[in-house]
Amino acid sequence: MLTGYHVAVIGGDARQIELIRRLNEWDATVYLAGFDQLNESFREAIDLDFDSDQVEKLDAIILPVPGTDSEGKIEGIFSNQLIHLSEEWLKRTPAHCQVFSGIANDHLKDLASKTNRTLIPLMDRDDVAIYNSIPTVEGTLMLIIQHTDFTIHGSKIIVLGLGRVGMSLARTFDHLGAKVSVGVRSSKAAARVYEMGLEPIDMKDMAKADMSCDILLNTVPHLVVDASVIKQLPSHAMILDLASKPGGTDFRYADKRGIKALLAPGLPGIVAPKTAGRIIADVVSRIVQKGSRKENE
Ligand code: NAP
Repeated sequence: MLTGYHVAVIGGDARQIELIRRLNEWDATVYLAGFDQLNESFREAIDLDFDSDQVEKLDAIILPVPGTDSEGKIEGIFSNQLIHLSEEWLKRTPAHCQVFSGIANDHLKDLASKTNRTLIPLMDRDDVAIYNSIPTVEGTLMLIIQHTDFTIHGSKIIVLGLGRVGMSLARTFDHLGAKVSVGVRSSKAAARVYEMGLEPIDMKDMAKADMSCDILLNTVPHLVVDASVIKQLPSHAMILDLASKPGGTDFRYADKRGIKALLAPGLPGIVAPKTAGRIIADVVSRIVQKGSRKENE
């Protein structure tokens, strides 16, 4: 329960709806900004007045998953209001007030450091990233089914990267009967791929590896699906790049070769905003109650 805690939710998308519902259920005092065009109303929530003394009570501020832009502006799909997170305003929060965002750009990090407030980029946490890999995989399945005319079962699928998303993808597509290979760069990861009964590919030498496949799933946020890889793909192959923008694919070359290549960011918020909001709510609630600065063990 969050009885006695004061939490401001500022801007965001459909994920925040579930987050606000949960915070209300847990009895937090919830302040909202950037939700004036939302059809649903939260009777228990209070409109955040940036000029009032509400700010002096805040234990936590929850920003949208993208955080702020490079000038401190906060986007929200439920409002046309321009919300700006300023240094002066943040300094008025209690010293223990924690600021949550999905990711943190340099501006947000700088703001947190100047105001000496704890900034928690949730997507950097292993627990959030692993929970989020579940809707990410489901979104990947949806896109593959929408964009191909063959079954996943029996297809040859290459997953690049065996991190939090790559691991979930590799296992799921293996269970669906695909022939899965996984591109990795360390011998430790290659051993893990082998242990999973899958085929490791050494990413340090992809130009020489057999990269022919029906579906190429990239999770590496660097340009790894370059021309040398794309030229090995059959014309019916599809590249789905899940890595953060701008992805890790040479989209220009893929287009030139007529290979379908999609960058697919933000799948949890698209296919399962309720689950994605619940994941954020659960972790935020734990951290707020613990009031801990380093709780990523
Ligand atoms: P992660 O756990 O850090 O995994 C990244 C993987 O990329 C690791 O296997 C890492 O290998 C590998 N890698 C990094 N740099 C590399 C390079 N230069 N060459 C070869 N391999 C390299 O990250 P994650 O949580 O799985 O997320 C992966 C990406 O997906 C991120 O960009 C994330 O923002 C994005 N994402 C997208 C969605 C979506 O909806 N599309 C959802 C969630 C996450 P090592 O282990 O050897 O370092």
